[in-house]
Amino acid sequence: MSSATASKKTGKTAAAKSQKAGGGRGGEGVQNSHPIFTELGFSPDANNLYRQTVSSMLQAADLMNLPHHLKIILAQPKNEIMVHFPVRMDDGEFRMFKGYRVQHNNALGPYKGGLRFHHDVHLDDVKSLAFLMTMKCSLVGVPYGGGKGGIKVDPYKHSKSEMERIVRRFTAAIAHQIGPDYDIPAPDVGSNAQHMAWIADTYAFLSEVGGRHPEAVITGKPVEFGGSVGREKATGQGVVDTLAEMLPEIGVDMKGCKVSILGYGNVGSWTGRILQDRGAKIIAVMDHTGAIMNDHGIDAHALALHTSKVGGVAGFKNADTIDKTEFYSTKVDVFVPAALEQMIQEPEAKMLNCKVVAEGANAPTTPAGERVLEGRGIEVLPAILCNAGGVTVSYFEWVQNRTFQSWDLEHVDTELNKHMIRAAGRVRDARKKYKCNLRTAAYVGALERLRAAYEIRGLFP
Ligand code: NAD
Repeated sequence: MSSATASKKTGKTAAAKSQKAGGGRGGEGVQNSHPIFTELGFSPDANNLYRQTVSSMLQAADLMNLPHHLKIILAQPKNEIMVHFPVRMDDGEFRMFKGYRVQHNNALGPYKGGLRFHHDVHLDDVKSLAFLMTMKCSLVGVPYGGGKGGIKVDPYKHSKSEMERIVRRFTAAIAHQIGPDYDIPAPDVGSNAQHMAWIADTYAFLSEVGGRHPEAVITGKPVEFGGSVGREKATGQGVVDTLAEMLPEIGVDMKGCKVSILGYGNVGSWTGRILQDRGAKIIAVMDHTGAIMNDHGIDAHALALHTSKVGGVAGFKNADTIDKTEFYSTKVDVFVPAALEQMIQEPEAKMLNCKVVAEGANAPTTPAGERVLEGRGIEVLPAILCNAGGVTVSYFEWVQNRTFQSWDLEHVDTELNKHMIRAAGRVRDARKKYKCNLRTAAYVGALERLRAAYEIRGLFP
């Protein structure tokens, strides 16, 4: 695999990095300019992820005549928290770490969103992801706002005991900024249920005389410690629920349809497994270790087992090794990006040979990539709809924690399905009303709810 594709586990593409640095492939600038960027002093770099994500929202806001004050409120996060903290390493030396928590908006409820543990996480990434959470929670109808956070750390380079100290020390650093009624983090790339358990335990310790449900400060916990059944697979389940709703009108039958998946971590592997169980065929998969293909179908369950043992898809038997170009060009019905942001740029969009892109990852398609897809008649199911299953079941976990309940899997899956169907319906209605693409329609669906909340609440003072 070329180094431009994927260098390390959870590493970003060289192209995405160079775009962040302003040396991108160009072509993004014209379409993502907006007077509000100048008014609010946004980065002039058209390839800046935060600028790109907000520009998609502003398109929808313009279309539905959202008042100017709501556009500027939603174009900025409420709070951007950065912390630096020391942690003792196993060799006795201390190292400083940087952590983030961005609280984008809480008009609809407490801030909600994951924590990314990644060596290359930046404030703009976290701001974009927090912004997307506000939109996602609003669209899917859970009573939360949007937040996101992270630690600049490569979790795969630290021992378990070092990670425990890093995670606990980060929790202490932000403990006064989070809470079950105020801001509720969750897992994201690089973080897992064990990390969530340490956060809940540290927070409970620090707030011992505080609330009655300290473990509700975080979701995505292990089932044995306040987690919900069905949370681990929830994002993949939501992607499949969305596809089940949307594929018929695109003329694709899930049974027998061919699928390729970019990224085979939590979201990618669960999407693959559930799709296969529903009759689809996984033909090609690529992650940071390489790309594989089998036109007769890759066993999604066996591949998940393989990646959990060896850390990536490379070396999987019963499939051929292919390169990046072959991966993107493989003829499939559905392509699921489930890795990192900005991976579907113009060149990848030109190569894709599919009918539908179902965005499992957050912001995987750049505006330029999207224009190419649109021009080629490829339908994009946007992330704020498609991957909303994770936050929805996180909400169920929070409800269970706060009401001392324990739901069974059937109940979780049924409730999730209802939320996904309703959200898909909202997107469909907006598309009909405004005659726009699905991404703009999804933002319209999210913004309608936010507009109603602001109209009713008013603005203080
Ligand atoms: P993960 O860490 O479990 O998996 C990430 C996957 O991306 C891995 O398979 C990794 O190999 C692959 N990857 C990383 N860099 C790559 C590269 N350069 N080229 C190819 N593959 C690469 O993360 P996840 O939880 O599955 O999250 C994936 C995406 O889904 C992220 O955008 C995340 O924000 C989003 N998301 C996750 C959840 C959730 O519940 N986990 C919910 C909503 C959205």
